[in-house]
Amino acid sequence: MRMPNLHAVIVGAGFAGLYMLHRLRRLGLPARVFEAGDGIGGTWYWNRYPGARCDVESMDYSYSFSDELQQEWKWSERYASQREILTYINHVADRFDLRRDIQVGTRVTAATFDEASRRWTVTTDRGDCVSARFCIMATGCLSTAQVPKFPGRETFRGATYHTGRWPHEGVDFSGQRVGVIGTGSSAIQSIPIIAEQAAHLFVFQRTPNFSVPARNAPLDPDFERQVKARYADFRRQARESRVGFVGERSEASALAVTREERRREYERRWSRGGLGFTATYVDLLTNTDANDTAAEFCREKIRGVVHNPAVAEILLPTDYPVGTKRMCVDTGYYKTFNRDNVTLVDIRRAPIEAITPDGLRTREAAYLLDSIVFATGFDAMTGALLSIDIRGRGGRTLNDAWAEGPRTYLGLTVAGFPNLFAITGPGSPSVLSNMIVSIEQHVDWIADCIDRMRAQDHETIEATAAAQEAWVAHVNEIGHATLYPRANSWYMGANIPGKPRVFMPYIGGVGAYRQICEGVAAKGYEGFTLTRG
Ligand code: FAD
Ligand code: NAP
Repeated sequence: MRMPNLHAVIVGAGFAGLYMLHRLRRLGLPARVFEAGDGIGGTWYWNRYPGARCDVESMDYSYSFSDELQQEWKWSERYASQREILTYINHVADRFDLRRDIQVGTRVTAATFDEASRRWTVTTDRGDCVSARFCIMATGCLSTAQVPKFPGRETFRGATYHTGRWPHEGVDFSGQRVGVIGTGSSAIQSIPIIAEQAAHLFVFQRTPNFSVPARNAPLDPDFERQVKARYADFRRQARESRVGFVGERSEASALAVTREERRREYERRWSRGGLGFTATYVDLLTNTDANDTAAEFCREKIRGVVHNPAVAEILLPTDYPVGTKRMCVDTGYYKTFNRDNVTLVDIRRAPIEAITPDGLRTREAAYLLDSIVFATGFDAMTGALLSIDIRGRGGRTLNDAWAEGPRTYLGLTVAGFPNLFAITGPGSPSVLSNMIVSIEQHVDWIADCIDRMRAQDHETIEATAAAQEAWVAHVNEIGHATLYPRANSWYMGANIPGKPRVFMPYIGGVGAYRQICEGVAAKGYEGFTLTRG
């Protein structure tokens, strides 16, 4: 099937793809969205595992582009569930009549820039072949589920699941012996619920994680009223903040206060719950001694909850600073290990050797299982982009350009790939922020850029190699001034065997980054080359 020429192709129909389509529509530019899933929603379409929930508060984790929408929509809880967010996304699609330009069940397989016509040709696994001036990747940072290549995986006779590809009809684990592999955010949310259902749950942990209590609750109507009365200002502050929401930040060093005062403050934040814990002191993510005080506080909490000291010991994270792997937010995670039907298996000490027909085998023991849940995460930030055959100027592939790790200008564009944009790409704050704030900022920047190009009769925009090199150096420099590179995290690509180790997100803060992007545009797209047809 061939389709008419488009101004833009958008790949992905999550929060990013939907808003991008809406902005281009308002500019009167024909665009089409291709989405691999059979429905819209991205992350919230795919991740339906038990307990899946946002850990940025509902009043923050939502679109700000329509005041009517944000005033009329009512969130029910402090942190929205997967189901509620998916309902919200579907409401947005209907409200703004987006569906007629979205083709679901269609994976983009290749995108090639044609230098003669200065257009992208985009092809899909359903035989579509479209031509567009712009190709906009809204493919998501955490959309490529990864299942480790354990030997014997295909021999398992029971059922297997990945948290990020959960069956729509749900899973009933009643009476089963279930194994969960992984202890990241997805595992930490699902383990307490699976434990309540399963006959026995085995948790296979390689690296213990730090997790703070969520303290989820029905949304406080007074808080909702207060926010809605000044939503514009609330959103402005979020956009200017470091992480895309306004939490209580301290400018004090953890080392400048007494031990007792520090304890009181950590305790207060812990009781309140949520991600604000790592903002307790200004230097928690830059100074090892400061970080140790927070890490030790978390370890004490784990020891205080888990009855069996040997189990508690295995759950204590000790070999990376707190906050340098994505902080987890849980409801009853640690106390789940006090249940008689839950066994923690330390696969760092005794790694998984193989999946077997009736379970799995570690170096020390065999485990009989009816189901295995892979809570093993994603090929983050670059996985979705690199699984498309993207070819820029001179036929060069993105895989080749990024062989040593991702290189972008502003996390938005890549030298050698004119008119290709990545929403929340590597080198932008993306995963270190409330993603909706970062998504809206990128979409607005891209839409404004496309609009200005049209007004000034420009056909292509392309990052210069020099601007890109300078940006990559800046991203690295400030990343390495923090403790983040000390962890084997997915931020570093460390969860994927063979992936280059590069600290991928931009840590300069959402507000500062926005100013940089706006400055670039204000200076006539500094660092870019623009050409006329
Ligand atoms: P996605 O929602 O990932 O959408 C990308 C879409 O692109 C997917 O539907 C995918 O199928 C599609 N796609 C990819 N490649 C192709 C292709 N080749 N062809 C066609 N379609 C393609 N962020 C927060 O800020 N706060 C949170 O609390 C939070 N919780 C999260 C919980 C989970 C379980 C996960 C996995 C992520 C969470 N995130 C959170 C990050 C979340 O991904 C973002 O907040 C946001 O939903 C990303 O939207 P997106 O549109 O950029 O990407
Ligand atoms: P993740 O954080 O990458 O966790 C994956 C887990 O699987 C880790 O414990 C990892 O261990 C383990 N693992 C991976 N490969 C393994 C192997 N070969 N052998 C043994 N163990 C292996 O993935 P995730 O939990 O899906 O979360 C990804 C991101 O999505 C989060 O960081 C967060 O940004 C987002 N998310 C947010 C929420 C939320 O609360 N809102 C919920 C879910 C996800 P190692 O640590 O040793 O690699």
